[in-house]
Amino acid sequence: MAKIKRIKFEKKVYEYLKPFHITGSIASSSTNIEIIMETGEGIIGYGEASPSFRVNGEKVEALMAMENFINEMLTDMDTNRYKSIFDVTDKLIASPSLKAGLQFCVVSIFCMEHGIKVNDFFGGVKEYIETDKTIGIDSVQNRIKEAEEIMKSGFYHIKVKVGENLADDIETMLRIADRTRGATYIVDANMGYTPKAALEFVNQIYRAGIEIAVFEQPVFYQDIDGLRFVRFHSPFPVAADESAKSRYDVFRLIKSEAVDFVNIKLMKSGISDTLAIIEMARSAGIRLMIGCMGESSVGISQSALLALGTGAFDFHDLDSHLMLREERFRGQFVQEGPIIRVL
Ligand code: MN
Repeated sequence: MAKIKRIKFEKKVYEYLKPFHITGSIASSSTNIEIIMETGEGIIGYGEASPSFRVNGEKVEALMAMENFINEMLTDMDTNRYKSIFDVTDKLIASPSLKAGLQFCVVSIFCMEHGIKVNDFFGGVKEYIETDKTIGIDSVQNRIKEAEEIMKSGFYHIKVKVGENLADDIETMLRIADRTRGATYIVDANMGYTPKAALEFVNQIYRAGIEIAVFEQPVFYQDIDGLRFVRFHSPFPVAADESAKSRYDVFRLIKSEAVDFVNIKLMKSGISDTLAIIEMARSAGIRLMIGCMGESSVGISQSALLALGTGAFDFHDLDSHLMLREERFRGQFVQEGPIIRVL
């Protein structure tokens, strides 16, 4: 028996080392909610929600105001019956990042109570994973410089944000590829292109002999026909991110044959939908990557342990903590450059 006694929310603000610019948004800080869950026996689980208004329609203050309601909802529930807590928290469809942090608290309490590691709870498949590092939207010159610095610091998976200026984006990609030979590229348009512009982009890159490992969310999240159109005409694999929040979204994407890849984020799906999506993707022959919102090392830890444990992801975009100013590292993993290892 490990009954939940109380749950506390704490608001935390983290500054970005450099303002983070993606299609339609520039952020100078990330405001997260730390979740502290305590059982009657005094076991404490920590989690983090990194709410996103752009993707999930979440506002931090609205989520903070749910603290009492969440306590009413979960007090006296037994963490040994974690699946029943998953089922109840699955109702938090308007605050998926809160669902993610709460579900992680429950898993980590379960693991402490039974003396197992969280990554082993998820399956214990991998000893280490490799993350990329992201280049936000900036001038062509600055983006090239950043790509060179990223590679010099030991990262070989480079994520490039595009979607606001097609001509600049094409020039940026061609010149980055020229300066970072041997790197693997993930390109993310964050819904910034029309289907035709997306094809113009990939065709120019392809003709220059450059390979893109994953082309993320070229078009608007509701435009599933557009996504399918890009997928079937693009020489590179196409991924859904903003289009793929819940397990129901992914089911529809698979039925529509709209994508090659899904970018799963705990902050969109929680742990319950993430596990469902992993099994669906495996059945349908769809490949997976895992990404993040504005998590600190506490939130990245949640995704890292799930990715290490399930071993389900071809690419890992778990770098938000590397972009934020944090007093001290609090992740339950070891990081050396791009390599994230089991603690
Ligand atoms: Mn994305």
